[in-house]
Amino acid sequence: MAIEKKPRNKMPEQQPEIRARNFKEVALGYTPEMAKEEASRCMHCKNAPCMQGCPVSVNIPDFLAAAATGDFEKAGAVIGRTSSLPAICGRVCPQENQCEKMCLRARVDGAVAIGNVERFVGDYMLEHGGKPQKATRTGKKVAVIGSGPAGLTCAAELSNHGVDVTVFEAFHKAGGVLVYGIPEFRLPKSLVQAEIDKLCGGGVEIKLNTVAGKTLPIEEIAAEYDAVFIGSGAGLPMFMNIPGENLNGVYSANEYLTRVNLMKAYLPNSATPVQLGKKVAVIGAGNVAMDAARTALRMGAENVKIIYRRGREEMPARAEEIHHAEQEGIEFCLLTNPVSFAGEKGWVKSMRCVKMALGEPDKSGRRSPKPVEGSEFDIETDMVIVSLGTRPNPLIKNSFAALQTSEKGTIVVDEETMQTNVDGIYAGGDAVTGAATVILAMGAGRKASKAILEKLGLQ
Ligand SMILES: Cc1cc2nc3c(=O)[nH]c(=O)nc-3n(C[C@H](O)[C@H](O)[C@H](O)COP(=O)(O)OP(=O)(O)OC[C@H]3O[C@@H](n4cnc5c(N)ncnc54)[C@H](O)[C@@H]3O)c2cc1C
Repeated sequence: MAIEKKPRNKMPEQQPEIRARNFKEVALGYTPEMAKEEASRCMHCKNAPCMQGCPVSVNIPDFLAAAATGDFEKAGAVIGRTSSLPAICGRVCPQENQCEKMCLRARVDGAVAIGNVERFVGDYMLEHGGKPQKATRTGKKVAVIGSGPAGLTCAAELSNHGVDVTVFEAFHKAGGVLVYGIPEFRLPKSLVQAEIDKLCGGGVEIKLNTVAGKTLPIEEIAAEYDAVFIGSGAGLPMFMNIPGENLNGVYSANEYLTRVNLMKAYLPNSATPVQLGKKVAVIGAGNVAMDAARTALRMGAENVKIIYRRGREEMPARAEEIHHAEQEGIEFCLLTNPVSFAGEKGWVKSMRCVKMALGEPDKSGRRSPKPVEGSEFDIETDMVIVSLGTRPNPLIKNSFAALQTSEKGTIVVDEETMQTNVDGIYAGGDAVTGAATVILAMGAGRKASKAILEKLGLQ
């Protein structure tokens, strides 16, 4: 049967020239009519390939069917069976590489905008959905280290089964990368707080400003609780170790984004200001690099360059983020690698780069870049943001030697149960996988909660 063509509903957005100078959300969200219309584009394919593309197997056809009739509450309930943070995942999941990539409608007139509809339903549930009922308490106690998507999901699932959960968070605000990393213009912080309040309503106590392994020994936590879940993320930035990297004005993307997002360095008289660079160079081309570049622009930079040693095809950031960055005027210097920084009076002033050419594919399958002899040139810059990826902070491992970790510092777990080599201690999210995605961290927290409930005899 021929399918009537109905093009995908575009997400309304702030105009690039306006949004490049404000921190308000770029995407404006669907109206209820747009959400219904987009959901009705689902073809309800026999084997639901979209679900195979979703790391937590959300029942996409069912939630779209409910949304298509305008029953957003039912759509929210369907998503809620497998995903705890729909308003967040609808905004930040790389759908184009997951559910939407598998959508068969793509061959007709464009994949169903599953993420955009999920975002609408998530927002609807925050506004209209009630809080989860507080379950009868079981007398069991679990400690969660870290309040990112992995820790929060694990905490909420346990609490919903009557377990009293204490979350220990190093920062003064809960949410992990959702609050300190991903900028306001992609993920409003009021929304993250609303999701946290809803998720943790009743039965979860969050203790902020508590660094497990430093202000509170892990052994002490393990002795006091029936089980422990470690969701401490991967917040340790990597650097290039090239001359001049210690000059003032050279930041890691983590530090820069944390100061701006969490410490509100964009406000005048902030206690932890950042430099207001005019000619900013961001090194790397992942999502974090795009976030840092677009943040620098909003902080008043006149020119922001992305410096990347590979080509366009190899850039790891989401296509949407690259497109948005380009629209806002970020310049891309591809096949370019910094070799040193030079400064004056301790502050960075320029960066020496070398041109690169792509050779054979490396272990990751990407073509490996090689320097082109004699191609050095200088780029003037007064601020550099290094965004080359992160690893788990070694603090937990160093303070708790019994815990088995990999060469890369990630915590080793049994993939079925997420239990570490230490009985009763579980882990998940970026601390186990290395830097990954919100949905994978959330899925790991959920999986660990199931195993913990079984261990405690509650399931
Ligand atoms: C700038 C940026 C942009 C991103 N964009 C996207 C995106 O668009 N889409 C996407 O899917 N993913 C994105 N990611 C990745 C995603 O945010 C992470 O994969 C996800 O947040 C990992 O969740 P987590 O719970 O494992 O760790 P985190 O979110 O890192 O949370 C860990 C928490 O543990 C706390 N902690 C650490 N050590 C201790 C300790 N010793 N004691 C107490 N607390 C501790 C930390 O302070 C933190 O709050 C992005 C990441 C960054 C940095």
